[in-house]
Amino acid sequence: MERRSARPARNSSFCVDNSACSSGQSWQSNGSKFKAVNNRDKNFTVAKVAKRLEQVEASIARYLAALDHADRQRDDASEAKTTRIRQKIEGLRRQMQTLKAMEKQVEEAPDKQISLTDPDARSMTTSGKGTGIVGYNVQIAVDAEHHLIVAHEVTNVGNDRAQLAAMGVKARDATGCEEITVVADRGYYNGEEALACEGTGVLPCVPKTQTSGNAKRGLFTGQDFRYDAEHDHYVCPAGTFLTKGKTRSDRRDDIDHYRNLTACPTCRLKPLCTPDKFKRHKRWSHEGVLDAMQARLDRMPDVMKIRRQTVEHPFGTLKAWMASCHFLTKTLEKVKTEMSLQVLAYNIKRMINIFGVKPLLQAIAA
Ligand code: SF4
Repeated sequence: MERRSARPARNSSFCVDNSACSSGQSWQSNGSKFKAVNNRDKNFTVAKVAKRLEQVEASIARYLAALDHADRQRDDASEAKTTRIRQKIEGLRRQMQTLKAMEKQVEEAPDKQISLTDPDARSMTTSGKGTGIVGYNVQIAVDAEHHLIVAHEVTNVGNDRAQLAAMGVKARDATGCEEITVVADRGYYNGEEALACEGTGVLPCVPKTQTSGNAKRGLFTGQDFRYDAEHDHYVCPAGTFLTKGKTRSDRRDDIDHYRNLTACPTCRLKPLCTPDKFKRHKRWSHEGVLDAMQARLDRMPDVMKIRRQTVEHPFGTLKAWMASCHFLTKTLEKVKTEMSLQVLAYNIKRMINIFGVKPLLQAIAA
């Protein structure tokens, strides 16, 4: 198809979502994962090795107790049993040595993880409680209108927090649009990524993640404090103003502290606000980027529902084609190629459904 030379000055909306590819378990409609060719038993992390060592130690202790018991019986049957138990203990001790060697290798690995069959596959958590897979994280940007995959990426990072800007820019480049709106779920919420989108033509829309424990403790949360940009102060639930005090730097940036030293100590709402002498409300120096993102979301109340429906279609199709199985290739580069072919096939099939075979062939030839 003909590629547009100049970017049209329109704003298109895309939904970005992810799925980590993993092993032979059934997937769910949204956010389930496929696995890599690497079996879970062939993937080692510090925690997994420690758990397996603990299990082997417990087994050895059980067999030693059984050995004591058999030794006390002293008949033909117990002699045969003793031999079997000794063999089991020998086997477990060999397993222990292998695990100890693996423990050392895992400690020395850059990300403290080793996969034996596919060295690039990584252990990733899934949405099911206590479940996990060894696989890859597949990112897609889907056209909200036609459900075409406009950009995709495969990573072996188990979360999406660093994917938003890169995927947004990829989608923008693939479509030739000057400006696109990228809608993603909470897993993508990351101030640094939203900031990285600034000036790129990518308008991110990601709902905020609630990281503060205040709601659980029955205290006001950040949403109860309204920022007044014109006067650079916060309006608190009691209606008083918190003004800018000290600026502190944390690991990533400057954080401004807003407070009201006179109103808080005598405020009747203080038990619901802070256990300290006065409330300190923190504001990231680039918080305006996040405020603008929230304002975009507020203007599109149904957008998260549309996002879910949009990303379900391509992921559902791709997973059905893979029959809930794992990738056929090993290592990140080859898995990327495999996924590119899957995406190409999906898009061709989708375009056949939208245009029909003949018009599509004519468009390709044009
Ligand atoms: S304690 Fe301070 S910040 Fe909290 S509601 Fe009262 S006046 Fe506002």
